[in-house]
Amino acid sequence: MNFSEDFTNKYGKNIEENILLRDFTSIGVGGVADYFYRAQRVEDMVGIVSYLAKEGIPYFVLGGGYNIVVSDLGFPGFVIKNEIKDIVFSQDKAEVIVGSGVEISRLLMDSASRDLGGLEFLFGIPGTIGGAVYGNAGAFGHTIGDFVRSATVLFPGNEEKKTKIVRHTAKWFEFSNRSSKIKSFSQNHPMENKPIILSVRLQLCQSKKEVILRKIQENFKIKRDSQPLDGKSAGCIFKNLGVGKEQSAGFLIDQAGGKRFRVGDAVVSKKHANFILNRNKATAEDIRRLASQIKDLVRAEYRVGLDEEIEYVGKW
Ligand SMILES: Cc1cc2nc3c(=O)[nH]c(=O)nc-3n(C[C@H](O)[C@H](O)[C@H](O)COP(=O)(O)OP(=O)(O)OC[C@H]3O[C@@H](n4cnc5c(N)ncnc54)[C@H](O)[C@@H]3O)c2cc1C
Repeated sequence: MNFSEDFTNKYGKNIEENILLRDFTSIGVGGVADYFYRAQRVEDMVGIVSYLAKEGIPYFVLGGGYNIVVSDLGFPGFVIKNEIKDIVFSQDKAEVIVGSGVEISRLLMDSASRDLGGLEFLFGIPGTIGGAVYGNAGAFGHTIGDFVRSATVLFPGNEEKKTKIVRHTAKWFEFSNRSSKIKSFSQNHPMENKPIILSVRLQLCQSKKEVILRKIQENFKIKRDSQPLDGKSAGCIFKNLGVGKEQSAGFLIDQAGGKRFRVGDAVVSKKHANFILNRNKATAEDIRRLASQIKDLVRAEYRVGLDEEIEYVGKW
């Protein structure tokens, strides 16, 4: 690929080539990204995305890699690892403006040390704030979308229009079951470069550090007892159909006998049937085929369709 001289001078020395993406995903599968860039500052993210968008070069923004299955054929274009990690607290308003590349666990610990709580339900969900807002991550009946006041979003331009940054309130995001407006856009336009969340303003609440940490521990114990946290997975593969136990994807898969299913080294977790584990040498293809078999099983048994919560990334 040919890049402009100006672009090469600015970013060239930090652009890596042929990087194996399986090393950047929790499920441990995925081929090579043509180009790989770590964006540590908002200016770098804006600069690189403006150029790629204008030139029509595909990019993918990677958070922690905890909710994706990257193709064995890799990603033809730029993978931009989001490492924007600024955090600014407003103690009296109990608010925080957090860079989208900050890990959830770090935000919770920093907040707790300032006696600010409210997001304890998120503890144990691995990944970045950007990934969490994109997929409206949640647990214990709460989702991050309920705590978003606003967020700044980078919209990629093209030959005609410039890349722009807009601050949107929570309403704009249309948060829904493990989704948001940006996730829906991306699923409906898989070949297009998607908007990137740069930072998020979250509403916290005044609390006490000890109370927050106790709640975190309680939540985490429940999570550890019910999910295979030590295996290689991408979290829940499918969205739940509703809030009740009988509408949970894991329950339906289990009842239908899905725990016996496997393809190659990809297996359904015995602890939680909505998790596919890479036992060691599974390929992305194995995981996708297993997910497809589980969908067929649940459709045949209950006449309902399961929708993926995870995303398949790259060239399939
Ligand atoms: C063991 C385990 C347990 C889990 N438990 C839960 C749970 O209880 N609840 C839950 O909701 N999830 C859970 N997950 C899933 C996962 O942790 C969440 O979906 C998390 O929010 C993913 O964040 P990430 O940074 O890793 O995103 P990634 O996996 O890196 O990316 C996911 C998607 O978000 C997009 N994205 C990431 N950052 C941005 C950004 N800044 N702007 C725009 N798009 C962006 C990516 O392009 C991609 O499309 C679990 C996962 C694992 C492995």
